[in-house]
Amino acid sequence: MPSPVGHILAGTAVYLAGTKKESRSRLILVITCLAGILPDFDFLPGLLIGRFSTFHHGISHSLTFAMFFTLLVFFVVERVDKDIAGQAAVLAGLSYALHVILDFVGVNEGTRGVPILWPLSDQRFGLNLHLLGYFYYSDRGIWSVIRWDNVPALLRELLVIGSPVLLLLWRERRSTQLAKRMSEANRERAAKIIGAFNE
Ligand SMILES: [Zn+2]
Repeated sequence: MPSPVGHILAGTAVYLAGTKKESRSRLILVITCLAGILPDFDFLPGLLIGRFSTFHHGISHSLTFAMFFTLLVFFVVERVDKDIAGQAAVLAGLSYALHVILDFVGVNEGTRGVPILWPLSDQRFGLNLHLLGYFYYSDRGIWSVIRWDNVPALLRELLVIGSPVLLLLWRERRSTQLAKRMSEANRERAAKIIGAFNE
């Protein structure tokens, strides 16, 4: 299953794919990236009893929770900025759902998957598509993820999930350059027409 880095990258990809450069909102960026890691905050109750993973990969890793979260974001953001509430809710919901799906398709051997269909089924489901590496964590706490053998998994996430982010940024830069070139060409053409008219 991806690390927090991979999940934040996936949230960033959702944000870049779902917004236009001219109408970006930092609030939507923050909410979308936060939504990308939010399901994993289910480790917090486990910290209280000293066993990090007791509640991890529970019902927060379900598509129903993604829908709840979408509605929650809509009602909260609507109070702050009505114009962006719909877009913020959709992107945050997609980012949340993408987390659940990435955990679902990135199940490692020895792990139990996620209850993606809760409340229809309490059963944990998962596939191992071998897209991502094995990201290790243990009951010792958050810091247990800092270990050398997590480096290959992190590098693989940067490649697999970071590539779409780079591709989206490259596409955006290219369209900005094209638009700039076109407006320069239009300006030159207009200047020539005005020049010819004045002669
Ligand atoms: Zn997760």
